[in-house]
Amino acid sequence: MEITEQNIRTIVEQVLARVQPGQVNPVQSQINAPGVFSEMDELIEAARIAQCQLMEISLEKRCEIIQSIRTIMRENIDELCNMAVEETTFGNRRDKRLKNLLAIEKTPGVEDLEPYTFTDDYGLTLTERAPYGVIGSITPCTNPTESLICNGIGMLAAGNAVVFNPHPAAKETSKFTVSLFNKAIMKVGGPPNLLATISNPTIESAQAMMKHPKINLLVVTGGPGVVKTAMGSGKKVIAAGPGNPPSVVDETADIGQAAQDLVNGAGMDNNIICICEKEILAVDSIADALKEAMKACGAFELNSSQIEKVTENVIADPGGPGHEGAPNKKYVGKDACVIARDIGLQVAEDTRILLCEVDSSHPLVWTEQLMPVIPIVRMKSADEAIDFAVQCEHGFRHTASIHSKNIDRLSHMAKVMNCSVFVKNGPNYSGLGYHGAGYTSFTIASPTGEGMTRTRTFSRERRCSLIGHFRIV
Ligand code: NAD
Repeated sequence: MEITEQNIRTIVEQVLARVQPGQVNPVQSQINAPGVFSEMDELIEAARIAQCQLMEISLEKRCEIIQSIRTIMRENIDELCNMAVEETTFGNRRDKRLKNLLAIEKTPGVEDLEPYTFTDDYGLTLTERAPYGVIGSITPCTNPTESLICNGIGMLAAGNAVVFNPHPAAKETSKFTVSLFNKAIMKVGGPPNLLATISNPTIESAQAMMKHPKINLLVVTGGPGVVKTAMGSGKKVIAAGPGNPPSVVDETADIGQAAQDLVNGAGMDNNIICICEKEILAVDSIADALKEAMKACGAFELNSSQIEKVTENVIADPGGPGHEGAPNKKYVGKDACVIARDIGLQVAEDTRILLCEVDSSHPLVWTEQLMPVIPIVRMKSADEAIDFAVQCEHGFRHTASIHSKNIDRLSHMAKVMNCSVFVKNGPNYSGLGYHGAGYTSFTIASPTGEGMTRTRTFSRERRCSLIGHFRIV
């Protein structure tokens, strides 16, 4: 039977009609929106069935499903961005639009599952990429729709079904996104629940999912807590953890360009993305010129008493060497003018970042704040700046950048930072493929080493050797 929305509705009605009073209804927990379940067990079982159905479908159809998802997301982009901003209160609609478009257009699809072969006197060996099965994906509130779109497309393109446990603070937005996925999949005849979610996600439901025997792979995107918990689950984990990206500016840099890139990069979606520049380390001889140029591009510089007041507001647990600290959630992802207003300071509404000159031990430098309050530290030399960048990045090996025309330094810093993403002479978002070459990902797996995840990251390699035949030469 062809899988159409009408057929599925008919099946659901038939099943419901067979359920006796008091009996557990196998589809009872699927509520209002397609792909949204109230019970974790039923959700995982539905995803498992959907994944088996996907295995019966051609790769061509899988490509059509991915295309249909990209189309529906594009059609609903305004709604997705509005919901994300309203529900999470993070970021702004303009930048969310750019980020969502990036995820829709530049997340790799089925084409990323490139097979490869070896041939020799013995015959031919073929390696193909197979799905894991059902992936449990835990997503953050900072890029709620982008993470779902990116994980959804990549994991499904690799042949998996996905059970999402989104951040509780983004649950309505996530449910809407998942219901769009399901509409798009069913529109082209794919099975429902390939991409499905729990209606009321909590830390407990995330942990239940982590332990569930029918979850074949865990992919977690978030802060240190979820990474640590997932790594202790006993399952295979792909973990995308926190960052604290330093950006070095040396005396050889094009200061005007560096200033523009830093304001654009650190100001993107109010600095809510993990890869955004979080602290600027400027060589003393150009620091004043850099600050002036940044102010001309939309930065507002705070004086020392304003810095003190802002720090008191935005830092909940001051970070320092060996301690990552934590921001005050109230200010995460807020507009610069809102953060300024709370210390009694009026700044223009279009102010992109609040620039704070501090010394290297200041908590603004060591804490991943995820807001447009950007510390700038004066460094004696580029070498000192690079050494310090390694320290204040906390060894996350996530993201770092440099503005310089000295090619030795560009290479040296790239090596010693040892990060998943390193950007030379551009805003950090270039490393995500926005105004930069390459595909995109909103799950950058630094702790487990996959880096910018993609379709092939969510697949298993399988090899088949045929002895004696199929060499054509
Ligand atoms: P968070 O850690 O608070 O939450 C992330 C997800 O993990 C949520 O779904 C949450 O419910 C769940 N979670 C948290 N603690 C858990 C636990 N102990 N057990 C099970 N589940 C748990 O993070 P957030 O505030 O949503 O996002 C911001 C953080 O995520 C920042 O540190 C940021 O750098 C990081 N992040 C990293 C990437 C990346 O690609 N590396 C991408 C986005 C965000």
